[in-house]
Amino acid sequence: MNPISSQLADWYQLHHRPLPWRETSDPYTIWVSEVILQQTRVDQGLEYFLRFVSKWPDVHSLANADDDEVMKMWQGLGYYSRARNLLAGARQVVKEYDGAVPSDYVKLLKIKGIGKYTAAAIASIAFNNPVTVVDGNVARVLSRLFAIKEPVNSPEGERQVHAVARDLLDTHNPGRHNQAMMEFGALVCLPRSPKCNECVVYQHCHAHKLDIQKLLPSKKPKKPVRVRWFNYLVIRMQSEGKPESVLIEKRHGDDIWNGMYQFPLIESEAELSSAELTKLATPLLDVLGQWKAGPRLQARPHQLTHQRIMASFHEFTLHPGVDIRLPNGLSLANTEQLNQKPFPRLIEWYLYENNMQTLD
Ligand code: SF4
Repeated sequence: MNPISSQLADWYQLHHRPLPWRETSDPYTIWVSEVILQQTRVDQGLEYFLRFVSKWPDVHSLANADDDEVMKMWQGLGYYSRARNLLAGARQVVKEYDGAVPSDYVKLLKIKGIGKYTAAAIASIAFNNPVTVVDGNVARVLSRLFAIKEPVNSPEGERQVHAVARDLLDTHNPGRHNQAMMEFGALVCLPRSPKCNECVVYQHCHAHKLDIQKLLPSKKPKKPVRVRWFNYLVIRMQSEGKPESVLIEKRHGDDIWNGMYQFPLIESEAELSSAELTKLATPLLDVLGQWKAGPRLQARPHQLTHQRIMASFHEFTLHPGVDIRLPNGLSLANTEQLNQKPFPRLIEWYLYENNMQTLD
């Protein structure tokens, strides 16, 4: 075995964190953990993981789950396409493989939501197939160990990183090797302050020799952030003898938060005044009945990876007792019903602050 791999394997044996997905070779559990941990810190992801696998412990139970329930479970974790794809992937595995997650890397890649990284993790950790996992942690470690100066998110940088990853792979124990590489990146070869004085492979590290470890990995600049203005219409209705309800709709299409719920939305290119917003909202409000405008609340900017959402909430009250005919796609929900629905974090906060939903 390559001395770097062997030293990292020994280090892993002694120092890895006792996380539930490291103590199993169940492919479904590993799949769920890898999806949750993409873009999520371990301490935050752990709680979601435990709740998720306790509710849906295998592929069949997840495949039979209600879409809204799965999105609700994911609420607050962000990157909601992960949840939608995981659910679609579980249904695909039931349909095509009778619920048995395939062991083959190429077959795994054909399952909805499973990309190169997750396929490699499942194939190597669950089935001990000799495939390299290269996540952000591993790319950082390798770019430093071999002083790769090409941006790791460029095709050439990726090629170089994957080439050295393949050279290092312990083909007898690829699952342990991949986990050791990831864990070493997470605990020792840290993004801003690598702990070179605790590093068991520092004598092999070219970046350390050149004292350029903090300059690596090099990365291409990110896409510019797109600013979007979301003007939510919080249309409340209080009928006699009934709990207060509010109008909601489900998001569809190829955009953020697909499958989550929201208040009726007017998106604009720039900030709108209350008068401008009311003018735009009037056609919908008039269909609903008599109404009056209430206060407006400006939320803090909500930052996503490539987008900044500037949200405002505009309250309207429908006349009590009005016989309401809802346009397609809109529904009324009281507090109990709101608690069952998945919402993006910024709406969840609004509901909580206004005593319309409990925060998880
Ligand atoms: S010596 Fe430092 S930069 Fe190099 S692998 Fe070890 S921790 Fe990372």
